Amino acid sequence: MDELPARADVVIVGGGFAGAATAWWLARHGVVDVAVLEREDLLGLHASGRNAGMCRQLAEDDRWTALCARGARLLREPPDGWTGRSPLTVTGSLLVADAAVTLGTLAARAAAHGVRHRLLDRDEVWARVPAVAGMPCVGAIEAFDDGVIDSTALLHGLASGARRAGARVVVRAEVEATRPAGDEVEVATTRGVVRARVVVCAAGAWAGEVGGRAGATDAEFVAVKRHLFFLAQAPAGPAVGDPFVWHVGPGPEREVYVRNGADGLIASACDATRARPGDVRVDPEASTRLGARLAVMAPRLAERAVTATWACLRTYAPEGPPRIGWDRDVPWLCWVAGLGGHGATSALAVGEEAAAVIAARLPRLARTR
Ligand SMILES: Cc1cc2nc3c(=O)[nH]c(=O)nc-3n(C[C@H](O)[C@H](O)[C@H](O)COP(=O)(O)OP(=O)(O)OC[C@H]3O[C@@H](n4cnc5c(N)ncnc54)[C@H](O)[C@@H]3O)c2cc1C
Repeated sequence: MDELPARADVVIVGGGFAGAATAWWLARHGVVDVAVLEREDLLGLHASGRNAGMCRQLAEDDRWTALCARGARLLREPPDGWTGRSPLTVTGSLLVADAAVTLGTLAARAAAHGVRHRLLDRDEVWARVPAVAGMPCVGAIEAFDDGVIDSTALLHGLASGARRAGARVVVRAEVEATRPAGDEVEVATTRGVVRARVVVCAAGAWAGEVGGRAGATDAEFVAVKRHLFFLAQAPAGPAVGDPFVWHVGPGPEREVYVRNGADGLIASACDATRARPGDVRVDPEASTRLGARLAVMAPRLAERAVTATWACLRTYAPEGPPRIGWDRDVPWLCWVAGLGGHGATSALAVGEEAAAVIAARLPRLARTR
């Protein structure tokens, strides 16, 4: 990776999907004097490297769904400047529900956002993915263009594309303080000081801490811990290439997902426990809870051995959808944070929007200097 520069037009704090996608799209706007600062030794040690890699377009509201549908399109058909193959394998998805009204809401959202879909009744769900036969439900919505994302390929495609265009990606550079210095901003890191015109807060679960230290008063984010599990593969499937299956409730005690991909078979009981920002540990009883959930919701998978378990934080802005835009108090601070449970799907759309916001203000900042 790169050395810390003494100065950059834009300093981005955080080398996950949010920061890397913003840097990638800034380069498309010709803004290449950019430094992405990442505290860890490597990119993707937190949510962007520890997620389930499902590309799910239908999300909890219209704003999220718009970002996820746009992000999914950009994953399927990578934008000009993307090198290498698409990080998405299209498999489709089944969002399974207990109530017809839930499916009706999702179908209306799919129609509004141009998400190709069809409705299935319970027997069709069980036939479509036999590994979840027995899953209690009234039916599902199948979103044909959902799929499985190679998160490593996505993150490194974004970071290496930004670097090729001129951005620097600096690891082991924890941002400790950010303060105005003359007509610029001084960013103090564990590797030294870098001056900037704009600071982007893309620090994932730590976004509130980083933004708060920069003087933002609206810097509360909510982090929730979720466990994921690799399950042993077995001939009874689900097969690689099957749609992922996500029971969406309603009700957290019903939620569960299972997806198969080139990296393995992943399941989660969709737990969501509030946590402080940090490198969260696995709860000792987590796999027992998964087994109990699968026994009810996907009985054919309940006996499958857990081969690995991990946990990580999903981070939300209190307003719900991600926060993309300028801080209301600190004029040089731009937020790209709160990507919740959709950051892999929406990354390219989030970065596209963030970069447009930043690029639009950079010339004005230049004139006032
Ligand atoms: C268990 C789980 C499953 C998920 N599954 C899916 C899924 O299937 N599909 C989907 O679309 N999304 C999924 N997500 C969501 C997705 O992973 C996140 O929305 C996304 O990774 C968030 O990206 P980010 O860049 O905001 O945060 P992060 O990836 O956490 O990146 C933030 C970075 O900032 C760095 N940082 C923090 N503070 C500082 C500092 N002071 N100085 C320098 N660097 C700093 C951190 O080290 C970190 O690398 C899942 C998330 C979790 C936790």
